[in-house]
Amino acid sequence: MKVFVLSKEGKPLMPTTPRRARVWLKTKRARVMRRDPFTIRLRFATQAHVQPAKVGVDTGSKDVGIAAIATGEVVFQAEVHLRDDITEKLTQRRRYRHNRRARKTRYRQARYDNRRRPDGWLPPSLHSKSEATVKAVRFIASFLPVGRVTVEVGSFDTQRMQNPDIAHLEYQQGELQGYFLREYVLEKWQRKCAYCDAREVPLEIEHIVPRSRGGSNRASNLTLACHACNRCKGHQTAEEFGFPDVQARAGVPLKDAAHVSSTSSRVVHDLRAIFGESQVSITYGYETRYKRIQVLDLPKSHTNDAVAIVCEIDEVVKPLEMVHQIRCLARGHYQRFNGLHSEHKCWAPRKVRGFKLYELVTAKGGVGYIAGRREKGAFVIKDVPSGKKVLEVTPRKLVRVARPTQGWMITRQLVLDSIRKEGGASSPG
Ligand SMILES: [Zn+2]
Repeated sequence: MKVFVLSKEGKPLMPTTPRRARVWLKTKRARVMRRDPFTIRLRFATQAHVQPAKVGVDTGSKDVGIAAIATGEVVFQAEVHLRDDITEKLTQRRRYRHNRRARKTRYRQARYDNRRRPDGWLPPSLHSKSEATVKAVRFIASFLPVGRVTVEVGSFDTQRMQNPDIAHLEYQQGELQGYFLREYVLEKWQRKCAYCDAREVPLEIEHIVPRSRGGSNRASNLTLACHACNRCKGHQTAEEFGFPDVQARAGVPLKDAAHVSSTSSRVVHDLRAIFGESQVSITYGYETRYKRIQVLDLPKSHTNDAVAIVCEIDEVVKPLEMVHQIRCLARGHYQRFNGLHSEHKCWAPRKVRGFKLYELVTAKGGVGYIAGRREKGAFVIKDVPSGKKVLEVTPRKLVRVARPTQGWMITRQLVLDSIRKEGGASSPG
């Protein structure tokens, strides 16, 4: 685990060892800037010799994985948990406004249908997700000299392919090519069994004209089947099996539609505006999967995916044992708290029994954030990584650990711990 260092002017320098950081802190040559991730700021002037770090981003709709590599070593790994309450909150606000117009007050013109959407408009829920992703990269850039940023934007690159339906794949050997072909077939047949439409089951790559009868390994002869259908079909062709349409569809190559989700294309666009066009590159899921499983041999997780994204194709690194968990939270700057002209207060005030919303607390040996408060009664405590309720406890028993800053809450999590928990093994006693 490295310690992040800022120069006297507050510019990010290369991370250092905890030992050196300790010496600097003891001799008052540096001061602590942030606990999570641990960052110090020097009190003496240095020459800034930096080797830019590489950052990888695994975009997602709920969680974002993010990793940074500096001088061939993973220095930061975090999982960002995005907000999923935006839609709900906007509906609520709309309801309140609607209600307010109907109350006996002066006439207020309805103002909801008179706005023009700017170019590149995203729905607020997606906007929040893309902003949070970009913010996480900027956050890393605040304590690490970031050079290149790589973003995974989708599972499969239809634009880069040289039409596997036409090209003879037998002659394009190599393992990545195998991955590529697999992804291509999965994409083309929409990840379901071509014969019984089964989803969410282990799918097998199936030869429409079987190998035993001279069928080729070309993409135009491949489809997806669940194990049962594959067994059942045996040495028959798809037509003999009763599916002439499968045979017909197989001949039509996948449309060259490079579909990138609107959120991740916005993320890439915004990152390019910050870090420069040439510094931000995109990658695809099949490449990440290949690197994570074949090269790095890591289990599936958002942060491990992010490490795989940032690695070169033959670069081998070790992931950290300590992963940061970042949960995006509402800041709570609402009109209802804003003094004289605030609305009628029918909610809990800003502080209840000395605690604000979303403060990180410990209680009964566990750590979590305050997700719900009651004037009389127990508070609701939720887990930072999962966002699930862990306990309800009286505020008397709570001990404050940290407050949310900049709209999110950061904690650390030992990866070994989480694996042990998922395994379900319990120690005796
Ligand atoms: Zn099937």
